[in-house]
Amino acid sequence: MDDHLRQELKARLEFYQDLGIQQFYRRSPASKTEKAQSLEPHTLPAPVPAPRLAEQKAKLETVQATSQASKPIMPTQRLSLFEAAAPSKSPRERETLEQIREDLGDCQRCRLATTRKTIVFGQGNPHAELVFVGEGPGADEDEQGLPFVGRAGKLLNRMIEFAGMKREEVYICNIVKCRPPGNRVPEKDEIEMCSPFLLRQIAAIRPRLVCCLGAPAVRTLLGIKEGITKIRGTFYDFAGTRAIATVHPAYILRNAREEYMLREDFEKIRDFLRSK
Ligand code: URA
Repeated sequence: MDDHLRQELKARLEFYQDLGIQQFYRRSPASKTEKAQSLEPHTLPAPVPAPRLAEQKAKLETVQATSQASKPIMPTQRLSLFEAAAPSKSPRERETLEQIREDLGDCQRCRLATTRKTIVFGQGNPHAELVFVGEGPGADEDEQGLPFVGRAGKLLNRMIEFAGMKREEVYICNIVKCRPPGNRVPEKDEIEMCSPFLLRQIAAIRPRLVCCLGAPAVRTLLGIKEGITKIRGTFYDFAGTRAIATVHPAYILRNAREEYMLREDFEKIRDFLRSK
C-alpha cells in the first residue's frame, strides 16, 4: 500500500472512530459470496474504549449543547459533521446512503437484532433539505421495513403536507433501526451502537434542517435532557446545520388537544425552509 493511500485510510478510520464506530467489516471487491462471508468483524485498529456518545458528537459538531431552552446552541470553531465526513471531497466522492446501508449489513451489533423482523434504515430523498429523526420502528415499520408507516406516520405525513411539502421530498429515519420489543424506549447501549449510522446518513444527505421527533431524538442528537414541550420549536446549531425539535406524533395521537404544538412547529419548519 502506498503512503498516500495509507494516509487516506488512516484519516478515514479516525473519522469513523470519532463517530464511535469501533468495528470494521472487510468488504471484498470480489464475488457476492465472498461479500456475504466478509461480514465477520475485522478489528483493523486496536479496539479503543468506546467514548460516550456525547463526547463523540462533541468532536464533530459545531454545537455546544446547553440545557437552556431559551438559549439556542452557539457554534464553535470545531469541524462540522459534514466537513469531517467529507474533508475536501467532491460530492461524487462522498459516502452515499447505499454505501452506509451496505456497511450496516444484516446488523447484529445489539440485542434488538434478536427480536426485530426488518431493519428500518430510512426512507426518502437522499438530497433532502429536511431530515426527520424519530425514536425507533414500531410494529408496522418492523413489518414493512419503512419508517413512520403506522398511525404516527400518517399524522407525520399530514404535517409534512401542512408545511407545504411531500413525504418523498424529505428523508425520514430513527435513532435506532430495529424495533425495540413492545415499543419500549431504546436503551443507551442500543443508541450508541446505532447512532453512528444515523450521523453518517445525516452527513451524506447534508440537509438544511434536522427535525427531532420526541425527547429520545433530542437527547441523542442535541444532548439536551430538558422536556420536549419546553424546547420544542427552538432552532439549534447542529453539526454544521440546523436542528429543531417537536413533539413525537405518537404523543399527539394520545393527546389530540395538543396537536397545535405540531402545527406551530411545522409552520416554523416551513418558514425556515422557505427563507433561502
Ligand atoms: N415511531 C417512530 O419513532 N419511528 C417510526 O418509524 C415509527 C413510529
